[in-house]
Amino acid sequence: MKRMIKLIKPYITYKDVENDFKEVFESEWFTKGKNVSLFAKKIRDFTGAEYSLLTTSATTALSACLKVLSISTGDEVIVSDFSFPASVNVIEDTGAKPIFADVDLETFNMMPEELEKKITQKTKAVIFVDTFGNPTGIHKIKEICRANNIPLIDDAACAIGSSENNIKSGNIADLTCFSFHPRKLLTTGEGGAITTNNLELYDKLAIKLNHGSVFKDDKYDFVDYGYNYRLSELQCVMGIKQIEKIENLIDSRIEMRNKFTEKLKPLDLKPQSIGDNVRYNVQSLVFIVPGNINRDKLIEYLKNENIETTIGTYCLSGTTYYREKYKSVQKNAEFLDSNTITLPCYDNVDVDYICNKIIKYS
Ligand SMILES: *Cc1c(COP(=O)(O)O)cnc(C)c1O
Repeated sequence: MKRMIKLIKPYITYKDVENDFKEVFESEWFTKGKNVSLFAKKIRDFTGAEYSLLTTSATTALSACLKVLSISTGDEVIVSDFSFPASVNVIEDTGAKPIFADVDLETFNMMPEELEKKITQKTKAVIFVDTFGNPTGIHKIKEICRANNIPLIDDAACAIGSSENNIKSGNIADLTCFSFHPRKLLTTGEGGAITTNNLELYDKLAIKLNHGSVFKDDKYDFVDYGYNYRLSELQCVMGIKQIEKIENLIDSRIEMRNKFTEKLKPLDLKPQSIGDNVRYNVQSLVFIVPGNINRDKLIEYLKNENIETTIGTYCLSGTTYYREKYKSVQKNAEFLDSNTITLPCYDNVDVDYICNKIIKYS
């Protein structure tokens, strides 16, 4: 049987971490050590943000951000409607009401006019999603948030290394959350990070993520209730090894994306639009399938040809739970949910082979 062309490939091998893992085991020091500090520092240096915290996932990162903003029952939080459900689940979990902002059919990101329309007296935060790592339009969203005095959280789960106007994701919003899940460009198995330039929020987060504790005069004082959302030394070794190589990885992904886009042009498969002032990390290579092609059948066909693909992502307001509870399904997000496909995109993927199969199918 032919080997499956997988959708993703981790950008790290055992060899990369072998020596440092050995050192961790020999030191018998598995958490809150030098690798944790170093990875957090590297994230600051890389993004340009002043402060950084490591978390167990983007989900716990987002959740902690909403907690330190004191969001709860009676509040509203506006969220991009085309995303992974974690983006909205964290809002629902606080007791606040999620307000779904529809997305642009070209960039797949929150539309500024939607945001303006949906802001009310109750709006306590906005969660902008860099869909598939694309930050296009976030500065416009930030402007609107500033004008209305609403904190902006950037769900940059997919956006490590991306930038708009030469400002990296992580250094744009009030709070930015990253994911290091294996589906993302940089992985620690599970993991995440928060960056901010706001010292007050940073201090509150540091307490929240560490059982509500502060360490002072050689002892712990529990000044808040909190969680353990920390990463371990071994996970941070993985992160350190990858962040050093990420710009090269992005360059090669951009090259691959260009090849796919060129090759698929005759087919009307429409790639996600990226702003001119944006560096896009190509976290996921996503196309809108033309009207004459059934997306689900195309995925099935490619699977039978040993090519692993998947849908784009989800219309949050259209998932069973949120549809039944809020009855507020957004049109563009719903369209993208049914008509987008993610193709394998990494070094040495056989672009010609994949594209020829798609062309043959259409
Ligand atoms: C992957 C993803 C998440 C969840 O990340 P985890 O680290 O798995 O919690 C949240 N939001 C978006 C946009 C994602 O793509």
